[in-house]
Amino acid sequence: MRDQNDARRRLRLHDLGRVVDRGATDAGPMPQAGAGLRPSLVRVVDAGGSDDPLRVLRRIGEDPEHPLARCRDDDLVARHARTATRAVSVETRADTRVVMHDAVVIGAGHNGLVAANVLADAGWSVSVLEREDEPGGAVRSGELIEPGFVNDLCSAFYPLGAASPVFRALDVEIPFRHGPLVLAHPALDGPCAVLERGAAPDEWLRIEPAILRGLVTPFPQVRAAAGLAREPRAARLLRRPADPLEARLREGNALHSDARPWGPAGRAFGLILTMLGRTHGFPCVAGGSGTIARVLADRAVARGVELRLGERVDRIPAARRAVIVATDVWEFGRITGRRIRVEPDPATVKLDWTLDRPIPWSAEPARRSPVVHLGGPGDFVLFGQYSMVDPTRAPAGKETAWAYSHVLRSAEAIEAQVEAHAPGFRALVRGRRVEHLPPGRINLGTAKLRNELVLRPFHGRPETGISGVYLGSASAHPGGGVHGAPGWIAAQAAVRSASRRRARGLWSLTSSSR
Ligand SMILES: Cc1cc2nc3c(=O)[nH]c(=O)nc-3n(C[C@H](O)[C@H](O)[C@H](O)COP(=O)(O)OP(=O)(O)OC[C@H]3O[C@@H](n4cnc5c(N)ncnc54)[C@H](O)[C@@H]3O)c2cc1C
Repeated sequence: MRDQNDARRRLRLHDLGRVVDRGATDAGPMPQAGAGLRPSLVRVVDAGGSDDPLRVLRRIGEDPEHPLARCRDDDLVARHARTATRAVSVETRADTRVVMHDAVVIGAGHNGLVAANVLADAGWSVSVLEREDEPGGAVRSGELIEPGFVNDLCSAFYPLGAASPVFRALDVEIPFRHGPLVLAHPALDGPCAVLERGAAPDEWLRIEPAILRGLVTPFPQVRAAAGLAREPRAARLLRRPADPLEARLREGNALHSDARPWGPAGRAFGLILTMLGRTHGFPCVAGGSGTIARVLADRAVARGVELRLGERVDRIPAARRAVIVATDVWEFGRITGRRIRVEPDPATVKLDWTLDRPIPWSAEPARRSPVVHLGGPGDFVLFGQYSMVDPTRAPAGKETAWAYSHVLRSAEAIEAQVEAHAPGFRALVRGRRVEHLPPGRINLGTAKLRNELVLRPFHGRPETGISGVYLGSASAHPGGGVHGAPGWIAAQAAVRSASRRRARGLWSLTSSSR
């Protein structure tokens, strides 16, 4: 009885108004695409009316519309075929027929791709639906301005990625590239603050594992908290440093977020990014940030994940076990019809340039540092330059550069800030691309304390209050940045919940309806 009720509840949840009643009609009616099922599979089953999964599979291969029919890579076909076998559920006796994957991931940003990998590693059949024509979300790159110059569309430098336990656990090779220095923060009227890899204080080295554990676990974070509690003296690290250059580094790193630099959240951001810079650097990625998406997507596809591009999702699709929503929380609200009250982070002005040669910074350390911080709380600019780290980004002798500010409101103001620190900069500009990003794009939610830890949308957890639906994007704990933690946390929660359900005999819609 409990199984039946569960099946009914899940049918309602996924808006499966109709399931096929084979007893009533032999060739249909089939669930429509609007019910969230893959149209190609629906058509195939409809055409075949077959009870035999292998026959269904052969028919998928014959369907000229199906990606398998167009694929020329035999290995890939075989892998997809295996996934499809798992994904197709054919009832021979009973009157319920549902065709779906174990999990659907909405959004192929890096978090969605991480989630897909974790689920595929657990043996699940997974479909990833992405509205754009390429995967990656805010982790994409390309010749955005002119041929031969590769710019990063959004994110560019990866302290959190280099430290990420998620990328390590997935065993992915991301070709991070480090400059001679990690970052420089020049002043117009004094010495330049410099961050280098190597020298982190002992207190930090003792708490870093607990901090990283906290990044990849939802609340309550018992083990991470215990790790921090063992080092009470590490709290001193949060004090404003007496050394003005160290204080400037911390302030600049806090200003990557929209939190007040010396408020509680800002101090934590400033500390964490500065220390991760010392232990892991702020690398960029060889060939462009899109390499990260490619590495994650290739790994997922090699494990049978179906990646469907150009597919915008408007309602929660059907899945046998879980749906991971790896979009921002407001898109989650649109898709689920839920009212979302999360404050966005501020609007951002983003600039990319192609330049005739490397930038003539007045402060010498800035010429050896891929990341340069400019200004302070009222006029902060985060600037990146690649040629010293990655020769694939620009033709020899030229430069590719990137910057954004959520304080300055125009491209002119940002360029004036750069020109003040590097007279002659403007004369080097060959081409520029200016983007005015709406609020909420960088961190997918404010980084202020009122949206952190247990205050993240669903109490710092990936469960959304909708059964089987998880939030796995940067809108969830631990927030923005490229580290894969929200996707990891959501997928782990889905797998754990499915094993608990299986133990209780409630493991899937199709099996529960038998
Ligand atoms: C300009 C900029 C600069 C940044 N710089 C850095 C940096 O240097 N270092 C760093 O670590 N972080 C940086 N960040 C932050 C970081 O890039 C993001 O926090 C992170 O990439 C978010 O990843 P995500 O997978 O959660 O979401 P996203 O990357 O936003 O991916 C969400 C995906 O879901 C898709 N999608 C949305 N709605 C739907 C739908 N209805 N149907 C199907 N698909 C849908 C989107 O197309 C997108 O591909 C930057 C961000 C921006 C915008």
